[in-house]
Amino acid sequence: MAKKMRAVQVSRAGGALELVEREIPEPQAGWVRIKVDACGVCHSDSLVKEGQWPGIQYPRVPGHEIIGIVDAVGEGVKPWKTGQRAGVGWHGGNCGYCNHCRRGEFFACEVALLTTGISFDGGYAEYMVAPAQALATVPDELAAIDSAPLMCAGVTTFNALRNSGARGGDVVAVLGIGGLGHLGVQFAARMGFQTVAIARGKDKEAFAKKLGAHHYIDSQGSDPAAELNKLGGAKVVIATVTNGPAMTATLGGLAPNGVLMVIGAAGPVSIDPILLIVGERSVKGWYSGTSIDSQDTLEFSASNDVKSMNEIFPLDRAAEAYDRMMSGKARFRVVLDIGPKS
Ligand SMILES: [Zn+2]
Ligand SMILES: [Zn+2]
Repeated sequence: MAKKMRAVQVSRAGGALELVEREIPEPQAGWVRIKVDACGVCHSDSLVKEGQWPGIQYPRVPGHEIIGIVDAVGEGVKPWKTGQRAGVGWHGGNCGYCNHCRRGEFFACEVALLTTGISFDGGYAEYMVAPAQALATVPDELAAIDSAPLMCAGVTTFNALRNSGARGGDVVAVLGIGGLGHLGVQFAARMGFQTVAIARGKDKEAFAKKLGAHHYIDSQGSDPAAELNKLGGAKVVIATVTNGPAMTATLGGLAPNGVLMVIGAAGPVSIDPILLIVGERSVKGWYSGTSIDSQDTLEFSASNDVKSMNEIFPLDRAAEAYDRMMSGKARFRVVLDIGPKS
């Protein structure tokens, strides 16, 4: 095997994404090495590029939407073997013994919370190493490039929906049909919810319905709260947009005991306490999920034909891929194709 690999790293906060040659990393005890086939480019990668994550150390290779093949296993790793397909997402690991971990709140681990592509090098590279506990099994029928975004955008929307308290037949709205939302609409419809897509403009209606939405609300041409109330009110609104006022505009459309589930990182959201009090409504955030959540997302997507729509770039054009993602114009996710060319 060649000893060197290509990787794309950020050398300092605010620095460029630069293509470099690096040693292929060796997995320590409990970790595995993955030969990366594809890695999604996520908005959270800007935390690495712009240095917005406290304590981040440089140089750092971003990327937390990884699909690849286990290439080497460190000491004591179970049950992974070389040659198996594996996915790695945002949640890179946790200690397993602190009070939060013992309560199953792994995202709140206070001892060793690891975030892929932030605490350790991620998937903008031909190889990466990750803790074995971060790995999800990838179904054979899923192509790497198609499914990489399911490791962050996918699991985040899937997990928020399945933990929202909504039951089959309930009205569930997905606010925004971009990178997260176009997956959210597909998941919601296939989970058996009366699915409402909310986006700006009439022109997105046909696309939203093609994704599986039963109803479409144009938030520019109408009041989304009033429209949701015509449908009986939404049990859940999954907010995927990065726009606080757009979230506020849906609050009055929540059914009694309805929940606004926030997964889009927006500025402040203003909330009328009366709406919360009289309808016992709530606003809640959702963290993406652990490796078993990612694995469930991949399996659900394979059996129910949920697909991320992606723009594909080679690894050496990662900087351009990142700019495209940041422009907000990509339809709908951006993915680096890193596997061998034949
Ligand atoms: Zn992400
Ligand atoms: Zn812990």
